[in-house]
Amino acid sequence: MSITEESVLLPKFRKMTTHRTFTMIKPDAVENGHIGGILEKITSAGFTIVAMKYTQLSKRDAQAFYAIHKERPFFDELVDFMTRGPIVSAILEKENAVEDFRALIGATNPEDAAEGTIRKLYATDIAENAVHGSDSDENAAIEGAFHFSGREIY
Ligand code: ATP
Ligand code: MG
Repeated sequence: MSITEESVLLPKFRKMTTHRTFTMIKPDAVENGHIGGILEKITSAGFTIVAMKYTQLSKRDAQAFYAIHKERPFFDELVDFMTRGPIVSAILEKENAVEDFRALIGATNPEDAAEGTIRKLYATDIAENAVHGSDSDENAAIEGAFHFSGREIY
């Protein structure tokens, strides 16, 4: 491959490998009218939306998505909450996306979340905490693929 060909291909390759995370705007935040405010925080922080949909999880979806928590005492409450109304799910792209997005959303319990974070601004309590953010690159890929087919990602 010539240097010219490489320099033409590199930006595409880099785009494919740029870090991504997965998010959901949870039913509480949708009910409370915060979709617009949360998307504004996300794009202002430098994240690009590469996939997005307005949808509602079935019980089976929520049980599978949060299967890691199935032994926790709050699991049934979590499944009921996540299925009680529509959500917005999205794949976001940015260098260091997973870590930067976790910083942007703040601690699980909004009482512990830093000022200016999405959960501090929009969450109700530790259960109804407005947004989900993937906790690792591996889980971001799994969660993104759970919600979106390849042709829904741009
Ligand atoms: P998420 O995975 O949704 O981004 P998180 O990574 O900050 O949240 P987890 O420990 O993965 O927190 O918990 C998943 C979700 O389960 C929380 O976001 C919250 O909705 C719910 N949850 C966690 N702890 C509790 C609790 N003690 N009581 C009720 N619900 C809880
Ligand atoms: Mg989590």
